[in-house]
Amino acid sequence: ASAATAEAIASAEAHSAHNYHPLPVVVASAEGAWMTDVEGRRFLDMLAGYSALNFGHGNRRLIDAAKAQLERVTLTSRAFYHDRFAAFCDELAALCGMEMVLPMNTGAEAVETAVKTARKWGYRVKGVPDGRARIIVASDNFHGRTTTIVSFSTDPEARADYGPYTPGFDVVPYGDLEALTAAVTDDTVAVLLEPIQGEAGVLVPPPGYLAGVRELTTSRNVLFIADEIQSGLGRTGKTFACEHEGVVPDMYVLGKALGGGVVPVSAVVSSAEVLGVFKAGEHGSTFGGNPLACAVALEVIAMLRGGEFQQRAAELGDHLHHELNLLVGGGAVRAVRGRGLWAGVDIDPARGTGREISEQLMERGVLVKDTHGSTIRIAPPLVISKEDLDWGLDQLRAVLSD
Ligand code: PLP
Repeated sequence: ASAATAEAIASAEAHSAHNYHPLPVVVASAEGAWMTDVEGRRFLDMLAGYSALNFGHGNRRLIDAAKAQLERVTLTSRAFYHDRFAAFCDELAALCGMEMVLPMNTGAEAVETAVKTARKWGYRVKGVPDGRARIIVASDNFHGRTTTIVSFSTDPEARADYGPYTPGFDVVPYGDLEALTAAVTDDTVAVLLEPIQGEAGVLVPPPGYLAGVRELTTSRNVLFIADEIQSGLGRTGKTFACEHEGVVPDMYVLGKALGGGVVPVSAVVSSAEVLGVFKAGEHGSTFGGNPLACAVALEVIAMLRGGEFQQRAAELGDHLHHELNLLVGGGAVRAVRGRGLWAGVDIDPARGTGREISEQLMERGVLVKDTHGSTIRIAPPLVISKEDLDWGLDQLRAVLSD
């Protein structure tokens, strides 16, 4: 790396908390599936901002929508209405097949909102005695970084040293319907799950699991909350990963791609019975549902309504998984999981850590990120061309055969 890269990294490390371990590349600009660094080197983005950039960098429609809104009004706070708010809520609810929207900004805020909604629904609608509401979550979950959310994480890295922890959560093994069934009590208000676990390494639950969760939660009067922050909005080849099992949850939690990689936009989307529990003053956010966020998200929703991104993710995803599966058993790759343009690839630890593989891919012009030891995660923008995807796969094959 040149002096410009080394200097930028040294300065960043000197003045920022070291809560991340980025790959040593300093991005200066980006377009579509490609990023250019401060030295003019080009990299294929196979991470897409952890799925926030489903529509690619600098997407024309999103940038134009943002620019137009920047010139009109960017923030009102929810003290007043603004003229993009109704359309945003209406169109997002329609995309989800739901009735009401509660907009926030980041994913963790939306998950916190879902937790608060479920508890309030539990007390006000289900009739759980005050202070007794419980929410069931899965092992190896990732729902964000707030104190309440890390309280029910099973990852010591995410959780250690942040206690005292928020009570009221029960953890069961992911994908185990029997364990989940046994954990439900009269005080259970919700089951909160990722339909595919992203940070855990793109773990797809066994067939029938989500449908089973739906059946169980319906029969026990428990809310099924699907955290589709990473899995939703086209990534898996459908608008929502739940659709692969024909399942409609009681609540979607959305974020990341909802803001198109332009602005942070998140939301809880649900029925009027569930989101209707909130009265004025009981929850809020200064920036949640702001005009700029709504303008960009409206364009995201319009793009998803067309269905072509989902179709692209499905078709290119089939190709990606076909190619990746050819590598399994060849020595370097232990397992491949995922759906659509989303894959977790377990590398034989003898070939190197996920970090080392990611660094070698970077040397070849491909950016991915490791997760949990020897897994790398592949999630390119859905706008990637088949040629670029194949080129990225060539680089992976080259690294693994070195
Ligand atoms: N939920 C899931 C499934 C996620 O993948 C993430 C982020 O990776 C979050 C929640 C948290 O989102 P944010 O980082 O915007 O708070």
